[in-house]
Amino acid sequence: MNADPAELAKFSALAHRWWDPTSEFKPLHEINPLRLAHIERLAGGLAGKRVLDVGCGGGILAEAMAASGARVTGIDLAEKPLKVATLHQLESGSAVDYRLVSAEALAAEAPGTFDVVTCMEMLEHVPDPASIVRACAQLAKPGGHVFFSTLHRNAKSFLYAIVGAEYVLGLLPKGTHEYAKFITPSELAAHCRAAGLEPADLTGMTYNPLTKVYALGRDVSVNYLLACRV
Ligand code: SAH
Repeated sequence: MNADPAELAKFSALAHRWWDPTSEFKPLHEINPLRLAHIERLAGGLAGKRVLDVGCGGGILAEAMAASGARVTGIDLAEKPLKVATLHQLESGSAVDYRLVSAEALAAEAPGTFDVVTCMEMLEHVPDPASIVRACAQLAKPGGHVFFSTLHRNAKSFLYAIVGAEYVLGLLPKGTHEYAKFITPSELAAHCRAAGLEPADLTGMTYNPLTKVYALGRDVSVNYLLACRV
């Protein structure tokens, strides 16, 4: 199984705080409107589309995409975040279909099913990211869109994403990220091409610690989004 049990346990232990916008998940809440708008723009809107969110966690992005009119399936291998996601829908009235299944298993079961596949802030937590990329490519319909986001691997990303975010600013719990698992944009693009995906847009995501504002832009040195066509 392409999953690290320690990683899944980490997300399960924090899961009850997933929807608290002041918690460990604050960064995900704050980047959500930015990435949602980006996905909508590049995919040509989400209304009526079939969307799969891989590594959906508590469902922050999955619910937002459903609110934009998509029929969303959310998958994750950590049990507690999925339970939180399911419970949250009682409150929000959202209708995401959450399933505890691996991307690889779902790809074997339902290939070519989704207009849009998203896999955000997840590849840097798995043992074999290329296998997830292949599964995402198989799950998307021909002509569909696949979106990834992850952390670059270089001195600056070490300083910002680990030292800064975990140790200085305390935005994330210590030990959230492991430098060796970060993925450069060219490595990710190579995984995508090998899976038959065509990288179409590379956009950076930055955090300004003075204004505490996240933004999308050209600086891909720390966090970035790669959009592909199938
Ligand atoms: N994509 C969500 C959550 C990111 S947190 C968002 O951006 O808002 C990372 C998520 O990846 C966690 O929910 C964790 O349980 C999940 N994850 C880690 N390894 C996984 C794997 N091998 N398969 C599926 N999900 C995984």
